[in-house]
Amino acid sequence: MFFKLKRPLPTTIASEQSERSIALQGHRVDYKLVRRRGRRGVGLKVDGTGMTVAVSLSTPMSAVEEMIGKNADWVLKKLDEWSHRRIVPQAWQTGTTIFFMGDGLTLMLDIADDSTRRKPFVESLMGHLFVRGRSAAGTVIEKAVVDWYKKQALPHFAQRAFFFAKLHGLVPPHVFLSSANGRWGSCNARREVRFSWRLIKARPALIDYVVCHELAHLRHMNHSTAFWQEVEHMCSDYRELKAELDAHDHKFRAF
Ligand SMILES: [Zn+2]
Repeated sequence: MFFKLKRPLPTTIASEQSERSIALQGHRVDYKLVRRRGRRGVGLKVDGTGMTVAVSLSTPMSAVEEMIGKNADWVLKKLDEWSHRRIVPQAWQTGTTIFFMGDGLTLMLDIADDSTRRKPFVESLMGHLFVRGRSAAGTVIEKAVVDWYKKQALPHFAQRAFFFAKLHGLVPPHVFLSSANGRWGSCNARREVRFSWRLIKARPALIDYVVCHELAHLRHMNHSTAFWQEVEHMCSDYRELKAELDAHDHKFRAF
């Protein structure tokens, strides 16, 4: 990850990151080493992005490797569990497929130095998503595509929330987008419902399940049996849909 620095670097470093690898029981394991000032002990984490090891600025590499070695069984087991649901970072080039409402859109970059457009122009046509502009930089393309996704997401979520609310005798809530990565929806006592814009990558039935889930929270602000009965009343096959979303959601987190 890159950070744009608005101010010059402080003279004392607070944290640093590096890519490392280690051999564990005959497997080469790549990991990210994060050093933070004041961090105590050695922290191991394995998730869809791989292994991350957190230590203090002064922890020697021998101590880091000893700790990983001691936990080799756990590390290899976790990596294996995550291997089929790894989050692969999105490539921003012509021909890559990106998910949109359960379908794949083929990304088409049309980059011209002399383009008169200051901001990239994004348009979907026949299963393709065209991005026209001056810069092919991944960050520029990603921002343009994300803005386009958000523009499609809000009216869709708002329309589905309105539809299901009316159908089930609820006052339609206010619908907002969130950028949460790891939480598809949330709601609060002010009847505001938020959906992650990334949810627009999922097929419509999965979106409807999340919408019904949040609407059911307007009646039950918890995950009680009564809450799940309400979800089932609004969305009878919610169990299958929830399982599908859990099993596939890593695919929706690439960007
Ligand atoms: Zn919930």
